[in-house]
Amino acid sequence: MARYISTSPFSAVSCASAVTSTLRDHGFLRRVSSLHDGVLDCLFPRICVGCGKIGDYICARCAANLPVLDGPLCPRCGQPQASGILCPPCAAKLSPVSSIRSVFRFEGVVRNAVYELKYHNVRAIAPTLATYLTEYARQREVVADVIVPVPLHPQRQRRRGYNQSELLARALAQSLDAPVSINSLKRTGGQASQARTRSMTERLRNVADAFTCTDASFSDKRILLIDDVCTTGATLEACAVALRSAGASDVLGLTVAREV
Ligand SMILES: [Zn+2]
Ligand SMILES: [Zn+2]
Repeated sequence: MARYISTSPFSAVSCASAVTSTLRDHGFLRRVSSLHDGVLDCLFPRICVGCGKIGDYICARCAANLPVLDGPLCPRCGQPQASGILCPPCAAKLSPVSSIRSVFRFEGVVRNAVYELKYHNVRAIAPTLATYLTEYARQREVVADVIVPVPLHPQRQRRRGYNQSELLARALAQSLDAPVSINSLKRTGGQASQARTRSMTERLRNVADAFTCTDASFSDKRILLIDDVCTTGATLEACAVALRSAGASDVLGLTVAREV
């Protein structure tokens, strides 16, 4: 644990070129995909999750008023912190995650959007939310070698039919032209929904040892962990423990929203 660092790489601007590409331009597939999207838009028009206006999942007016999480933040956990230095809980412990950042506060239109993605099977909203992750990562020149989504337990994923964090990570990776790894980090426990385990202690107990990773290719790699919502950071930390044990040199967490 002593090797975990306590500074915030999100504030350290360094070489953006470290995000390297393994994706290729599948022009034909993209054209078929956009035709498919066009047909779906006719059959199931996009409705703004904020005001109900037809046209997009987040209309321009609602997009202009999204609850951006800015201001002084704890460099480690990303909670608002007036001084911008480590908050007391972070100062009292070492963490396997160098820094957690979230684009928005988990409220209003953003909360509606995440709920639609997660619980109402509106998978098509993922690219819209991923554009905000992309913008955030580009503006701050986030440095990572591999993008990894927080996995769901296989049983939960079978029930839901998809992993919302994987959809976000794939869309982000495509926009950044960066590698994404889907199956290397596995969830083997912690099935109880984090949304129903309220206290920090309960959340930590629920996810401790819930993740495993044995991918040797992660050795000395900087990982960008992606999730939809960060509540206490316990899930991201548990993932990071597994990634560090696989040799990752650094783990950053980036989520669409954060409960503050
Ligand atoms: Zn709207
Ligand atoms: Zn903190």
